[in-house]
Amino acid sequence: MTLHLPISWLAAKMTTTPDVFKATQENKIAMAILLGVGLLVFAALMWKRMLVLLKLRHEPFRFEEFGERFKRLLLFGLGQKRMVDPEEFKPGLAHVMIFGAFMVLSIRTVTLVLMGFFGFTFHLPLLGPDTILGSGYLVLKDFVVLTALAGTTYFLYLRLVAKPERMSVSGEGVFILFLIQGLMYTEILFEAGLLHQVGNYSVLHHPVGGLVANLYATLGLSTSTTWMMGVVGFWIHCFIILFFLNLLPLGKHFHVITGLFNVFFQRVHSVGQLSWIDIDMEADMDKQFWGIEKIHQMTWKMALDTYSCTECGRCQTHCPTYITDKPLTHKGLNLTIKQHLLDSAGTIMSGKEEELPDLVPNVVSSETIWACTTCGWCETACPVFIEQVPRIVDMRRYQAMVKSDTSDFPQEAVNVFRGLEEQSNPWNLSRSDRGAWAEELNIPTVKDNPDFDYLWYVGCAAAYDDRQKKVAAALAKVINAAGLNYAILATEESCNGDTARRLGNEYLFQALAQETIDTFGKYKVRKIFTQCPHCFNVIKNEYPQLGASFEVYHHSELVQQLLYDERIKPNKEFDKLVTYHDSCYMGRYNDVYEEPRRMLRSVPGLSLVEMPRNERQSFCCGAGGGRMWLEEHIGGRINQERVKEAVETGASTIASNCPFCLTMIRDGLGEMDIEGVDAVDIVELVANSLDDENTSQS
Ligand code: SF4
Ligand code: SF4
Repeated sequence: MTLHLPISWLAAKMTTTPDVFKATQENKIAMAILLGVGLLVFAALMWKRMLVLLKLRHEPFRFEEFGERFKRLLLFGLGQKRMVDPEEFKPGLAHVMIFGAFMVLSIRTVTLVLMGFFGFTFHLPLLGPDTILGSGYLVLKDFVVLTALAGTTYFLYLRLVAKPERMSVSGEGVFILFLIQGLMYTEILFEAGLLHQVGNYSVLHHPVGGLVANLYATLGLSTSTTWMMGVVGFWIHCFIILFFLNLLPLGKHFHVITGLFNVFFQRVHSVGQLSWIDIDMEADMDKQFWGIEKIHQMTWKMALDTYSCTECGRCQTHCPTYITDKPLTHKGLNLTIKQHLLDSAGTIMSGKEEELPDLVPNVVSSETIWACTTCGWCETACPVFIEQVPRIVDMRRYQAMVKSDTSDFPQEAVNVFRGLEEQSNPWNLSRSDRGAWAEELNIPTVKDNPDFDYLWYVGCAAAYDDRQKKVAAALAKVINAAGLNYAILATEESCNGDTARRLGNEYLFQALAQETIDTFGKYKVRKIFTQCPHCFNVIKNEYPQLGASFEVYHHSELVQQLLYDERIKPNKEFDKLVTYHDSCYMGRYNDVYEEPRRMLRSVPGLSLVEMPRNERQSFCCGAGGGRMWLEEHIGGRINQERVKEAVETGASTIASNCPFCLTMIRDGLGEMDIEGVDAVDIVELVANSLDDENTSQS
């Protein structure tokens, strides 16, 4: 094997360019035709897909906070951070290898196309083979050719052999992988032919091409034969590039074009905040936006989302609806909406929106939009940041505010709305009883203690549900022991509106939220703690949409701080194995994972065991998104799936920090006749381990 090390060697050769490297008239014409046809067809394919975006709903906030957007683009788009999630490390790495190769080879692609016009020795400025940059680039190029081949081979193995459940095994996917491999092989063929032609066998400067050129020499192949193979490789390579480009908009690989834009335009505010609707009751009701009725009322970002779906299926792995066989997956909904959007593009562009069918139930079934627990797993998992929950809630909004009298609308939700409207609680229990739970517990109201530091926003569950009243009593014991200066609103408290919002009744949400904010204002509330993650999320993340911001804590954060400050010292042993269930609205929505675990670890004797699906990958209890109030008619029961996992850890106590989770887990234990396992709130464990010395501080 011959090594020619000096970089200047090839450059010296190039000063006497062989005739075969010169641009011929035929080459120029062939490249012009290939490029012209390829780009024209591409423009035609993109035209309809992009133009229709301009006709969809606008969201001004997508063009705000550019600094944060660029940061996320670098981290998650170019940096591919989500791709290499530990749970999906190998496919993630394979994707990064292909993505990185495409980034590096994009420069090579431009060079190759221009070679068609200017000859095979053409190079971009600063990237000549006699420059450090240019020779470095050629080595890097060869390296990424290998990573792309390795990555695509791994994906071919996944698609054709391993076939993981989450992945769609489509002919298109396999074909594209072979096309990418074709690009790499033709690149090697071209470069090796060129190197053999000029007698350069440097594997140091051309690790892959040089190796193949050496092989040609070893086999005694003539330079004219290998150069002819190289030229054929060159033209096939250029053809594949343009063919590939035109395939992209037609299938799931559209994400190659739209993915980075989708990452850039992701929402940068809290994922716990749904979109705001300006409801103007004075305005013409037909002009008021009541949620998504037809496809043209989707936002352009919702459409871009559907274009960007890679069909990787990561969103399905812990989706409670997919796992329990309900008719909803993030991936499936993307495909349905995308197809309908493309089918409707002509109608939308011609302004005949009234001819479009209602999305629900004609395109998306009613069961699909009501199945979602808004657990957020799909959005957490999606590598291109496709937003599922806001569009589902937008579809629910139209059903809840305009179509709630149809048979498709879940009647349980109608009862909940009635309870919220009439008594400000979903059970429709008497509003005047809202403070009754606290009367015998020596809990101060805002009237008793107007100089409180913290307002305890109790919430409907703790005020009315017998099991939750016990959790509230435990929380009271803990904060009393710590000597916290707090108060409750008692009968002046109203529902904060979270349930109404998640079920799509935005009008009711806004009314309840405003009432709550007015009451907070009346008592000059600044700091709030809640017993329920849903109350916590809505007050913390959504009330700012109504111009009201507060310092909000969930009890797990507050109690953890009291423990840290040694204002309480759990010292009664709890010699049991406990597993902790992360609620979606504390965990994925608000990143509170560690505080509840610290609370548990503070209890002497308690051993904590994790379920396989925990923290970010936690599995929903089935109650979020208003599902707490709806019957589960289709598929398996989500709560039982979770309880099974908890019981399999061997724990005798399942701890949570959410009224809905606790209810669902208790129901699951009962439905499955499981004995000897308790379901508790974490604050109950802390309260039970406080001895008299602690509680005497109160
Ligand atoms: S939010 Fe949760 S339940 Fe809804 S589609 Fe996503 S993963 Fe499934
Ligand atoms: S929605 Fe996201 S996670 Fe789900 S298949 Fe599409 S790209 Fe993958």
